[in-house]
Order: sequence, then C-alpha cells, then structure tokens
Amino acid sequence: MKLLVTGGAGYVGSVCAAHLVDAGHDVTVLDDLSTGHRDAVPDGAEFVEADLAEAADEVLGAGFDGVLHFAARSLVGESVQRPELYWSGNVVTSLRLLEAIRRHGTPRLVFSSTAATYGEPEAIPIREDAPARPTNPYGASKLAIDNAISSYAAAHGVAAVSLRYFNVAGAHGRFGERHAVETHLIPLVLQVAAGTRESVQVFGDDWPTPDGTCVRDYVHVDDLADAHVLALQHARPGHHGIYNLGSGTGFSVREVVEACREVTGHPIPAVAAPRRSGDPAVLIAASDAAKAELGWNPVRTDLSTMVGDAWSFAQSRRQPV
Ligand code: UDP
Repeated sequence: MKLLVTGGAGYVGSVCAAHLVDAGHDVTVLDDLSTGHRDAVPDGAEFVEADLAEAADEVLGAGFDGVLHFAARSLVGESVQRPELYWSGNVVTSLRLLEAIRRHGTPRLVFSSTAATYGEPEAIPIREDAPARPTNPYGASKLAIDNAISSYAAAHGVAAVSLRYFNVAGAHGRFGERHAVETHLIPLVLQVAAGTRESVQVFGDDWPTPDGTCVRDYVHVDDLADAHVLALQHARPGHHGIYNLGSGTGFSVREVVEACREVTGHPIPAVAAPRRSGDPAVLIAASDAAKAELGWNPVRTDLSTMVGDAWSFAQSRRQPV
C-alpha cells in the first residue's frame, strides 16, 4: 500500500514507519520536526518536512491507500499549562487531515490514540467501553479526534482504527525514545544508569498498590507497530474500530527501577517524591478486543526485554559518530 505516516520522525511513528517499510509498503513520512528527528525517518521512506495542517490537502492529493496519524503533542503537564497548543496542534490539525482524507477519498486511517482518553478508571483492567472522561487537555484532545473520526467513518465511509496505547516502552534498533524534555519513567531511569542524571524520583510511595508506587501497563513499541500493520489490514469501510493496546500486566514504579538496575548493573538511586498531580494509581489495559478482532499477539511483554531494548538504544546514541 501507498501510506502516509504523519509524525513518522517521532518515537512510535518512526518505529511503525520502519515496520511498514520492512513489510514492503510504499511509505511517505510527513513531519514538521518540532519534536521528531530527521535521522529517525527510516531508510526507504520518502520524507516531507511540513506542517501537517497546511500540507495535508496537497500531500493526500497525490493519492494514498491509507494514513497512519501519529503527529501530535503528547505532554500531559504541558497540556494543562498551555491547552491552546493541544486544541490547535492536535484537534484542529487532525480535522484538517480528516478533511483532506474526505476530499481525496483516502480509504484508510489508523490513529494514534491513548489510554489518557479514559481518565481515572472505575474498573481495572480498562476496557474500550469504559467511560471516557479525560482528566487533562491532552487526553481530551485525543478523545475529540476519536469522536471526529467515528463520524467521518460513518458518514464518509473511511475505514478507521484508533489504537489506544498504554505505556509504550522499548526500542526498535536505532529507533527509540529521545525527547528534548523527557518525562517518561523508563528513559529517565536509564539516564541515571548512563550517568547523565543523579537519581530518579519516585512520585508517591503511599498509593493503594502492593508496593505503594503507581502501576502501569507497559507495551513494547515493536508489539505496538505490529498492531498498526494489523489495523491497516482489518480496517473496514464505514467502521471505526477502537482498541486498547497494553500487555495486560501491571508493573510498579519500583519494579521498573529494579528491572533497570538488573539490566544495566547500575545501582540507580531512587528518591521518594510527592505524588505527581493527575496520576491514577493503576492503569492496566484489557486488550482482548485487539487480540480477537485484529489478531494481535504481543510477544515482548516482559519488562527486561523492554528495558533491555531501551538501554541498547540509549547506549547506541552515546557512541561517538
Ligand atoms: N514516574 C515517577 N518518576 C518519574 C517519572 C514517572 O515515579 O520521574 C511515575 C509516574 O508517576 C507514573 C509512572 O512512573 O506512575 C509512569 O509515568 P510516565 O510519565 O512514564 O507515563 P504515564 O503513565 O504518565 O503515561
């Protein structure tokens, strides 16, 4: 298929673009490089550096079989401080993309959604029919886009799939997580092991969880990419499928730090810190729908594989070029 990958110079987008190139698809990456990296665009993909809102109509006019839409702002804290960036950068931009998809009759769309659409869960594990009550503008912006996609699929026949990621981790060879402002647990802990940070803060140790620290469902970025390839194959015209993607197992902050110690051999000092506002105690996905309907089978589910791959990536970035 001829595929447009928006945000394909970012973490998840670049890994998915690499999988799509490897699967033999004709891939064009569109990215404004605001947070992505030119050298993260996989060999074999065409690259367009452009603002998506401005370029979507012209680019899709060339005729594509599908769009995988990753381009987005994704920092929860920033979304609370500067919601305008999220309503504009995520929602307005995605509406422009949807309009271009409608105008040019692009048949398929796979959208990068998030567990943040659910907010504070009422029940664990979280199923797709759980109430969607996001607790920050980031989650709200992604939910608004999901809703817009549902109506475009129903009215205009787009075959659409939204994939709601839980905590993405790991790396795919030279494609991995490298944010200018790092807020995610595993890369921060690995910065301590790499010697660029002294210690890691543990945000709250009095949560109602077995060891008092927050529990999250980590999913390997390669398993996530597999789900995107399957979503393209299974998308049905006029239908919007929404699927959670997680490994179905929860790991606490302490367990993550311990796994990083084992993988790196570094003592990694961890310091107790106050709870981070907006953090739910436990987030675990029910991914049964993705397994049953897409045939998804996450296989890199153990923490040491995810941390090990992230560590290999982090070390490869430190080699002199
Ligand atoms: N966390 C932490 N210290 C940090 C960064 C994160 O204790 O320096 C915790 C955070 O409170 C949450 C978990 O690690 O419980 C995962 O956070 P992350 O930001 O990686 O992902 P999120 O669950 O917010 O999407």
